Amino acid sequence: MSELNLILLGPPGAGKGTQAERLREDFGLPHISTGDMLRAQVSSGSELGVKAKRYMDAGELVPDEVIIDMIVQRVCGADARDGFLLDGFPRNETQADALAKALAGLERRLTAVLAIGVSDEEVVRRLSGRRVCVKNPGHIYHVDFDPPKHEGVCDQDGSRLIQRDDDREETIRRRLEVYHRQTAPLIDYYDRAGLLRRFDGGRGADEVHARIRATLATLRLEEEL
Ligand SMILES: [Zn+2]
Repeated sequence: MSELNLILLGPPGAGKGTQAERLREDFGLPHISTGDMLRAQVSSGSELGVKAKRYMDAGELVPDEVIIDMIVQRVCGADARDGFLLDGFPRNETQADALAKALAGLERRLTAVLAIGVSDEEVVRRLSGRRVCVKNPGHIYHVDFDPPKHEGVCDQDGSRLIQRDDDREETIRRRLEVYHRQTAPLIDYYDRAGLLRRFDGGRGADEVHARIRATLATLRLEEEL
């Protein structure tokens, strides 16, 4: 069976986490979120984690080589033999080149880049409507899609619901601006490489999932020919 070595691209609120979870169920692909991976390495005190922490403590960005080394180590794990789903890296063309080179060193290459597009207005609607319980942050509501029975009150324990700072419209718009500035060149880059597959994230999780599955099935068939 051919490998599925994938990158997931999309703005905050595009539902990348949901799609990653489903692809893990469908194909057994581990979801490699570089942010989570970095935190895990740092807290485990591994050699790479110690190296990364030195930069973070100095208030500097962790250099690309360190992240790449972590990714290489991770994709060599037994659970990533049939493929992986990379999320949060690369963020620019230099990193994309470095990743391609590192994968080539492992005699692997990317199968596709899955770009989930959602309009800024939809992202703002999805994220700014979120409300979380002050007592248990796992109790999450949405003013439009999943409202509590009584406004501002948690159904499960009667605690107050709040909007997190991250979910405020100004914060979301600032994050989107950064996202577009960083990602637009990357989308072009993978488009030119013939790896880009676009999905309309405005269609809802089930339909996006069905389309991604269909695309991956086709890619696998083409590779096996
Ligand atoms: Zn609650």
